Amino acid sequence: MIAENLAVLRQKIEETCKKADRNPADINIIAVSKYFGIDSILEATKCGLTNFGENRAQELTLKFEKLGSKVTWHFIGTLQKNKVKYVVNSAELIHSVDSVELVEEINKRAERIGKIQKILLEVKTSDEMTKSGLETESEIVSLVQRCSELKSIKLNGLMTMAPLTDDVNIIRKSFKDLRNLKDKINNKGFNLVELSMGMTSDFEIAIEEGATMIRIGSAIFGDRDYSKDWRQI
Ligand SMILES: *Cc1c(COP(=O)(O)O)cnc(C)c1O
Repeated sequence: MIAENLAVLRQKIEETCKKADRNPADINIIAVSKYFGIDSILEATKCGLTNFGENRAQELTLKFEKLGSKVTWHFIGTLQKNKVKYVVNSAELIHSVDSVELVEEINKRAERIGKIQKILLEVKTSDEMTKSGLETESEIVSLVQRCSELKSIKLNGLMTMAPLTDDVNIIRKSFKDLRNLKDKINNKGFNLVELSMGMTSDFEIAIEEGATMIRIGSAIFGDRDYSKDWRQI
């Protein structure tokens, strides 16, 4: 099942890259394994996937206890300050950093275990109430500046989630805005590289607009069963 899904996904990535004149090797698939168990993750690794994304600190911690660094972990969900230490312990990259308080706490926890924590700043590129992330450009630039001063933080780029809509133009604008923001920041002398954008429903648009990481769950693992107890993985 996962192998077939992945073959379809890789084919679509390849076609989109051809259309957008991009190299498929520049698109990293983050397999979003939330609600799926260890077996599914292991099956996915057999198909060549190495990067896995989780959106809850407890679920990530549990899976990290079982799989450790056999795979590379990404944290993509809303992060509470009191969970930072668990996430810093397990995640290679935290995609969803959206406040100076979080940045300072991540820096503190990373320093304590002798790690340089790679992060992305999550940007709110739509006005949906449900989406989190940084909003104003000046807020983002000052946080980028703060990150550059902290020794145990490495800011690698930006992340966003497009609004829930069927309107392709709105989705595209959200991804374009993120890319433009990255360019603007880099023009101020910073060196942001990664754009984490695009999920199952919109990754093709994200690739066209410059995504370097796409976060794909259901197109790889199938539909999530939200009634399942995630502790039984
Ligand atoms: C769940 C999730 C995804 C993946 O969603 P799919 O639609 O299953 O591909 C991507 N990004 C974030 C932040 C998520 O929480």
